[in-house]
Amino acid sequence: MTKNTPIDLNSFLEAAERGHHEDGEYLQALREIAVDVWPVIEQSPRYRDWRVIERLMAPDRIISFKVNWTRDDGSIALNRGWRVQHSDVLGPYKGGLRFHGDVHESELKFLALEQTFKNALTPLTLGGAKGGADFDPRGCSEQEIMRFCQAFMTRLAPHIGARTDIPAGDINVGTREIGYLFGQYRRMSNAFEGALTGKGTGWGGSPVREAATGHGLVHFAALAARAVGKEMEGHSVIVSGSGNVASHAAECLIAQGAKVKTLSGRAGTLIWKDGADHAAILSLREARAAGERDLSRLAGEVGASWHDGLSAFEVDGDIAMPCATQNELDEADARRLAETGCWMVAEGSNMASTAQAQKFLREAEGLVYAPSKAANAGGVAVSGFEMARNARFSALNPSALDDELRNVMSHIFEQCCEAAPREGDYAAGANIAAFHRLAEAMIAQGVG
Ligand code: NDP
Repeated sequence: MTKNTPIDLNSFLEAAERGHHEDGEYLQALREIAVDVWPVIEQSPRYRDWRVIERLMAPDRIISFKVNWTRDDGSIALNRGWRVQHSDVLGPYKGGLRFHGDVHESELKFLALEQTFKNALTPLTLGGAKGGADFDPRGCSEQEIMRFCQAFMTRLAPHIGARTDIPAGDINVGTREIGYLFGQYRRMSNAFEGALTGKGTGWGGSPVREAATGHGLVHFAALAARAVGKEMEGHSVIVSGSGNVASHAAECLIAQGAKVKTLSGRAGTLIWKDGADHAAILSLREARAAGERDLSRLAGEVGASWHDGLSAFEVDGDIAMPCATQNELDEADARRLAETGCWMVAEGSNMASTAQAQKFLREAEGLVYAPSKAANAGGVAVSGFEMARNARFSALNPSALDDELRNVMSHIFEQCCEAAPREGDYAAGANIAAFHRLAEAMIAQGVG
């Protein structure tokens, strides 16, 4: 192999900043990974010679397209859609679709990079991707959501497929939206194939998929707790968000005997002083599925108090589980949580903590930090089982899947422990373990 001029970490980061100067979140994710894996690169001339890090950090391609569709009143709406295909070196591109008014290319680039590393931590053969649109479904009718999904898929379909790229759900994309997207893909391709995951269980979906990210998060947190001699049982947990990941994490926490004190939305926080019960979580989930997003209206019904404008992280708890969106937990939140006795932060949302918060959490004495890349990989793992089901046209056994999910989370946890440069540094462990797998596959498959 011809030798390339070796670069140091600073030169690499400076070059990344020049190349992606408008991409704040992407640079944040890239920097976090690069700092952790650099010592590995310095010890491995092969990785330097093959320019693994430079090649791995850039997405394979970004597909950007317009999405035009018609509102109920006949007016025409214009949106932008994207699919960032980051890497298919470990398998077909795989990652969710996000519909949100604030979605932009940089956000999807960072999510696709994170997804590539997350998928590499699972034992499955999955590449990494992410996509979405700057479409805000709030206030849209069911018919409008269907027409938007169909218009979005009309543009996306040529770029995906069961062996090419398999999107799934993410913020504001649940089973209903996946149904409309899948229906359009099926009609366009004249093929019933597993080109999307997160489908309904009656038509190719996986029984545990919807709950898998939240449940997997709690399994990972329980393993990390046990490593410091603690159990989830009896501890109070601050959960942010009230969507898919938050509500399934809450359900699993309650089943493990933990006390769920909060769920939240963009407008404020619901607090259960003595902990929510299972019925409250189910009511909230049903209300959300029926289109209700105003948590303040539901507080009385679910036995909680409503706190307008309050962040969940302003509430005291033993454990914090951010499950809403990226950079939702900042350094001030992290410091306050630690000062008030919180001993674990386990991330359900991707890159839940800002760079400064993450630095603090990783260095704080006696605080366990479970990074999203590892802790929220349960969803994509079960998506992998759904893909296998679709390829075989067979059924899946729900109780076996629960065991599979636990096994995958244990596998990920063990990998993080083995690769961690110091005990309990799961963030570095996740980055290094994923990097090794990706780097070896890139070298084995040659430059191209
Ligand atoms: P949902 O759409 O089901 O729920 C999103 C939740 O986050 C809602 O409570 C929403 O509040 C809140 N939220 C959205 N945007 C913001 C914002 N800008 N500020 C504060 N709160 C916000 O999404 P999911 O539960 O599926 O996803 C949540 C997180 O988990 C995301 O980071 C996602 O990438 C990650 N994730 C999801 C996976 C999955 O399987 N679904 C897999 C792995 C990671 P409101 O209702 O008020 O809008």
